[in-house]
Amino acid sequence: MQNLAKRDVKFVKGVGEARAKILASELDIHNGRDLISYFPFRYVDRSKFYSVADFQGDMPMVQIKGEFLQFTVEGEGARQRLVGTFREGRNIIEVVWFARIKQIRDGIIPGREYVLFGKPSLFNGRYQFRHPEIEVYDPDKPREGLRGIYTVTEKMRKKGFVSRTFQQIFLKIYEAGILDEIRETLPREIVDKYHLMPLAEAIKNMHLPENIRDLQRARERMKFEELFYVQLHILRYSRERSVKIKGHVFSSIGKYFNDFYNNCLPFELTGAQKRVLREIRADMKTARQMNRLLQGDVGSGKTMVAFMSMLMAADNGFQAALMAPTEILATQHYETIREWGEKIGLKTALLTGSTRASERRLLHAALEDGSLDILIGTHALLEEGVKFNNLGLVVIDEQHRFGVAQRARMWAKNSTPPHVLVMTATPIPRTLAMTVYGDLDVSILDELPPGRKPVQTLLRYDDMRAGVDALIRRQLAEGRQIYIVYPLVKENDKLELKSLEEGYRFTCENYPEYQVSCVHGQMKADVKERQMERFVSGEARILVATTVIEVGVNVPNATVIMIHNAERFGLSQLHQLRGRVGRGADMSYCILMTKRKIAADTRRRLEIMTQTTDGFIVAEEDMKMRGPGDMEGTQQSGMLFDFKVANITKDGQIMEMARRVATDVLDSNPEISATDVAHPSSLDEGVTLPLSEASLRLLATELQLRFARSFDWSQIS
Ligand code: ADP
Ligand code: MG
Repeated sequence: MQNLAKRDVKFVKGVGEARAKILASELDIHNGRDLISYFPFRYVDRSKFYSVADFQGDMPMVQIKGEFLQFTVEGEGARQRLVGTFREGRNIIEVVWFARIKQIRDGIIPGREYVLFGKPSLFNGRYQFRHPEIEVYDPDKPREGLRGIYTVTEKMRKKGFVSRTFQQIFLKIYEAGILDEIRETLPREIVDKYHLMPLAEAIKNMHLPENIRDLQRARERMKFEELFYVQLHILRYSRERSVKIKGHVFSSIGKYFNDFYNNCLPFELTGAQKRVLREIRADMKTARQMNRLLQGDVGSGKTMVAFMSMLMAADNGFQAALMAPTEILATQHYETIREWGEKIGLKTALLTGSTRASERRLLHAALEDGSLDILIGTHALLEEGVKFNNLGLVVIDEQHRFGVAQRARMWAKNSTPPHVLVMTATPIPRTLAMTVYGDLDVSILDELPPGRKPVQTLLRYDDMRAGVDALIRRQLAEGRQIYIVYPLVKENDKLELKSLEEGYRFTCENYPEYQVSCVHGQMKADVKERQMERFVSGEARILVATTVIEVGVNVPNATVIMIHNAERFGLSQLHQLRGRVGRGADMSYCILMTKRKIAADTRRRLEIMTQTTDGFIVAEEDMKMRGPGDMEGTQQSGMLFDFKVANITKDGQIMEMARRVATDVLDSNPEISATDVAHPSSLDEGVTLPLSEASLRLLATELQLRFARSFDWSQIS
């Protein structure tokens, strides 16, 4: 494989100067290795005729055989379409065309047997074909086997470089015996032990599959390889870091923690809160620097966990900081934590963009001389003047609002980096966390405090406003508070601001008996704060807002959140918004408003919200539908790795296996670790997997080849 990396693509017969140029400019394919690693994105199966009864899930392109029974033309004007009824065996399936209607209908001969070829798609719960290829069935026509379809760009297509061109190229490569030159890229020991398809055979099957079974094995092998090297890279780095970077040792649990725990706890901790606190404690009492992600659904009580972790810092003479993404949120945290802290004699301060200069000076001084124990704030914590006397713990709330670079800066403030606890309500599926966050440890608050009633979620159309209105009025009459949310996708979108302002006016007119507050991202901080304060205090009974209220805001008396244009929000975002209600003992409602005409998959997406309140299910569904790159929580941190074959939303099992094997390899071969230090980190007893000299050299070369140009790790964790 390495030798192929050194060869120009022109070594292939049929690839000359022109095609080499296109490959380079359009697909970034420069050498032989790039070329044979350019795999089909889809496979079609013309090796047999399928039965409609066997269709299930996301289908590949397949062919069926049968006859047309009748045609009808439906719809008017631009929406006109031809619908054919096609009989395959005992099954009936609809075939739809949106163009060339007359041509197609006139061309089809009744009673003849036809072959349809295309991707069956689901519409209203039934499969149909749209614009399939059609031809009269010819029993003598040779059957084409299973084949791959390659992505080509528009520019390539114009120059006659199509998917089939790739097939021809790979056939040439195969016939010339070049695939025999491919050297294995995984250690022999691993290939043998896990019965993986050898690389040369796998590459052959990826491009020129003979049957489904071999294709599947080939794909598994390629996915495993891709994921294995990523995991090896991450784990190797993580071990290096844990050896090189020492953390503060919080050896004792002392007065603050015990005093608060025994005398001041406002409620009994949930089992999950206790467990997570033990996990945090275990990290901080060793010389290891904690780097932990705390996931907990909205309302699971992360703030208390953060506060009690701060007490561990205080007990050991260290200061703690909490950074929140918005001023509103920072202020709320400050109020909660100051109140708790006061009871045991801890000093807490708030620092945001709107803290006055005079106040700031006092605060800076108190931070530096150590008389301030806890500092809470926004990005302002990262400003130059902010110097801690002895920072032991940093808590970052709702991390998806912060870029990773900022996380890194917080660290740079001390020679020994503080322990870091990152909190998020975006439940990131485990496989994704393992990849996106690399070496972060993960704790999960998977239990809500007792007595919470699940929020009832309703999907309502804009023309059903009257019924929604009645529900809101009943809640208002009972003394409850209401959120009304408008989308604001871009911070400075004038049109959307207009819809919010109109919504605000409408709300004031519609509920004249009640005070209404309004907040959005473009307000000045102090105005926003005033408006928010009016709602938190209960003076304003309705809050009209954009998604600035998405994270963290805690008003237990609010029982209804009505979200306009719900179709424009991501599922995870809707889940966050829904989390603003259901925080008290009363029954709460989340009402998703949309127009009547929405796409079928949009409706399906919104229906998931009405079916579950489990954030993990919502997140998994979100990821399945939108792909991991789009998922909230990963947008800003960015996916660190780009996967060619593996799909981390679907290949969780292979990912786990890759991680296990990578762990075993590192445990059994300390010489691979960048530090040369044996590291007994695996939790379960791994198997031993000692590698030969040659295999170790291979690993080193592959890591170098794959990750040499990779990012600067120190920026990430
Ligand atoms: P989140 O995890 O969304 O940040 P919070 O920390 O804001 O959740 O907690 C939500 C609400 O639940 C708060 O009012 C908090 O005081 C309360 N709470 C937290 N833990 C418990 C508990 N163990 N028992 C009862 N109420 C709790
Ligand atoms: Mg919170």
